[in-house]
Amino acid sequence: MIDTNLYTLCSDCDLLVQLPAVDIEHKAVCPRCHNLLNKKNRNMRLNTTIYALCALIMLFTASGFIFIDITILGNFNGVTVLDVLTTLYRDDYRFIALIFLLFVLIFPIFNLTIMLLLCAKRSLSRYRKRDLLIIYEKLIHWCMPEIFLTGILVSFVKLMSYGQIGITTAFIAFCLFVFFYLKAVLSFSTKACWDSIATNNFAHKPLIAGETGINQDIRLCDCCHAILPAKTVHCPRCKQSGKPRNRDKIQWTLALLATSLIIYIPANLFGIMITVILGSASSATILDGVIYMWQAGDIPVALVILTASIIIPILKIVSLSGLCYFAIGSRHKSIHNCLNMNRLYKVVEFIGKWSMIDIFVVSVISALVRNQQMMAIYPDIGIIFFAIVVIVTMIASHQFDPRLIWDRVKN
Ligand SMILES: [Zn+2]
Ligand SMILES: [Zn+2]
Repeated sequence: MIDTNLYTLCSDCDLLVQLPAVDIEHKAVCPRCHNLLNKKNRNMRLNTTIYALCALIMLFTASGFIFIDITILGNFNGVTVLDVLTTLYRDDYRFIALIFLLFVLIFPIFNLTIMLLLCAKRSLSRYRKRDLLIIYEKLIHWCMPEIFLTGILVSFVKLMSYGQIGITTAFIAFCLFVFFYLKAVLSFSTKACWDSIATNNFAHKPLIAGETGINQDIRLCDCCHAILPAKTVHCPRCKQSGKPRNRDKIQWTLALLATSLIIYIPANLFGIMITVILGSASSATILDGVIYMWQAGDIPVALVILTASIIIPILKIVSLSGLCYFAIGSRHKSIHNCLNMNRLYKVVEFIGKWSMIDIFVVSVISALVRNQQMMAIYPDIGIIFFAIVVIVTMIASHQFDPRLIWDRVKN
């Protein structure tokens, strides 16, 4: 019997590939666009369970205790992970508090629990598995514990000139949470879980490897990556609806990009952080922060903030607009051009959420520098505009269908 799971459609370039048997610790990539198609990890279920369990234990250990502290002129202030949340909430920055709660705590906890349930010995019904996998796939783009950790490190450098910073065992537990979380995500294979629910091939006719899906009247399910007849609206495996191409979503991408470009203006004009020293308050914009760090001699941190907060959002907007034009407007598509555009899309997808770093830096700094006799730091209104820019550009890049890059390519 032919193993139908051996075929897969590339989610980036729509090429039908016959997968070779992948050895343990090896990957299979698309021959046309080099997208990762399959990977086989050693003891996937056992390793994922161990990493996910360790991550959850470390997070709960870290949350209950003071994890970072600062001493300014003899005044000590220590904060727990949850203090970052409560400070934002008390300051009436509930939107930023919600971002922190969801992206750094709730979504990673949800996904780690889903991994544990799916890898557990006790088998769930296929419907339960399906629902859990759908939630996992939707949340994974919005999990940002590693970005929050980088934000903490950047805020340490920013605060070094004000006072003495200390870390506790709970901070090490938080670092371990991030480490185990990333290990769990890397060892978990959603493809293996989907394939355990049902076959990945629902095509009614023999498939031709090396041809695109659209030429064979088949399409890839956006959610579970099953191969479906092009006219099938609802995927039999995950029940999600879809189309051969998301061409109409280009308008959505462009509309979201225009929105983010407009909101990018107040995000840079308004301050993101208010510093109160001996009763006199001054607000600083993102650019002020970069200039201050540069003048203070912290050039690497100034460059990190400049890149993450100013250059990346603009590059993302320009790159995605260029990708939309190339996908539907370009007449001369060579494989070389498509490959470069595909790489650009991958970079945009990857770096998108790193712009959140400045939001986390401001959150950590405002929680730490509080109740001091000499100074206090509060978030400012610009931070909300900036968070909206990052979220809107992330949604815009998720709306874009990379298969449109490869349509009408000349071999
Ligand atoms: Zn491909
Ligand atoms: Zn599906």
